[in-house]
Amino acid sequence: MMTVNLSFWEKEAFFKEVDVLIIGSGIVGLNAAIAIKERKPQFKVLVIERGVLPIGASTRNAGFACFGSMTELLDDLSTQQAEKVWALVEKRWRGLQRLRERLGDDSIQYRPWGGYELFRPEEKESYEACQDHMEDFNLALRSITGLPATFDNRDEDLEGFGFGGIQHLIYNQGEGQIHTGKMMAQLLALARERGVEVYNGMEVTKLETSVDGLSIRLKNEWQLKAHQVIVATNGFATQLLPELQVRPARNQVLITEPIPSLKIKGTFHYDRGFFYFRNVNDRLLLGGGRCLDLEGEETDTFGLTTHIQNNLQELLNTVILPNTKFQVAQWWSGIMGVGKQKTPVVERLGPHLSVAVRLGGMGVAIGAQTGEEAAKVVLDG
Ligand SMILES: Cc1cc2nc3c(=O)[nH]c(=O)nc-3n(C[C@H](O)[C@H](O)[C@H](O)COP(=O)(O)OP(=O)(O)OC[C@H]3O[C@@H](n4cnc5c(N)ncnc54)[C@H](O)[C@@H]3O)c2cc1C
Repeated sequence: MMTVNLSFWEKEAFFKEVDVLIIGSGIVGLNAAIAIKERKPQFKVLVIERGVLPIGASTRNAGFACFGSMTELLDDLSTQQAEKVWALVEKRWRGLQRLRERLGDDSIQYRPWGGYELFRPEEKESYEACQDHMEDFNLALRSITGLPATFDNRDEDLEGFGFGGIQHLIYNQGEGQIHTGKMMAQLLALARERGVEVYNGMEVTKLETSVDGLSIRLKNEWQLKAHQVIVATNGFATQLLPELQVRPARNQVLITEPIPSLKIKGTFHYDRGFFYFRNVNDRLLLGGGRCLDLEGEETDTFGLTTHIQNNLQELLNTVILPNTKFQVAQWWSGIMGVGKQKTPVVERLGPHLSVAVRLGGMGVAIGAQTGEEAAKVVLDG
């Protein structure tokens, strides 16, 4: 491909004297840019993105506005200090309120329909552990969600949903769902309204320190300069910064054609959250199954595999929609950034370089604060 150099005019008008350049226009990158512009309106803030759209996780996720199912919390409490676990729950809860306030419930199609966790007969032990902890959890959550009982048993809803092979349901009153695409479109519009410049089709291949800032090399051989750079590329972070403790984790997702008789409403967690599904109006969205091939799915390459697709299809046929006619309309995949620790990495790596990555499966909830924390790291040192 022929390389076209930047003209003098282009350099002067678009890329000169950049105060902060953010790599990646996902939920974190855009929130960081907005937060910087709000505090420093005079700054030239650029977001550069390799995709035509922000193609990573933010426009490809399931849109669960969630802060932890009971089995997820029990699992976290078995590996981390209780204080840390509840602090993260609070962060997720507050993050969701912040996202809703900032963008507006209507524009992100927030629906407060609650979330359910499904239990099969063979998950008796896990279900009983949830029963043993429900009262304590509700007590701990009272000061966070303000709800008298965040979790409760809802076996009576089983018949209406028509699931196959499910024995118990635990309901989470505080969970909701959003329209992921509309949320990101709204966030992009807000960033532009605040004066953030967003450029697409710009893939960064290398970062190099120079005397007065950082030099950013692009795939098309352009070279930009910025005083401060934030890497917000999440699951792709080690492509630029191999030393970071972030691993990619692919997730495969499907959505059905509209199902006029669909009774399922809300967000649903199955098999300890390895599978998740929800209604999108009268369609059913299902994703996950990474547990079926953890090694194969530790990849930052988009794609679908027959093994996981067959399993998701089987789950629809036997558990989720056993007595309903449906057709799968579309499949896609997204890449998350995960690590041993379930917290994002937001830190300064050098005088001109910071990172905000490793959002796991929590980006809808904590993406806004993570972006704001990155802005703080850059502006306050
Ligand atoms: C299928 C799926 C379902 C999920 N479901 C939920 C859910 O229901 N609820 C929830 O809270 N979270 C969910 N998540 C997680 C959530 O989507 C992420 O935590 C969040 O979107 C991460 O945002 P981000 O901005 O850090 O990263 P991303 O959205 O991945 O953004 C990173 C951006 O960087 C760009 N980029 C990468 N490399 C370069 C480069 N070299 N140069 C320029 N640009 C580059 C990418 O194109 C991308 O747009 C899910 C994730 C997936 C994949």
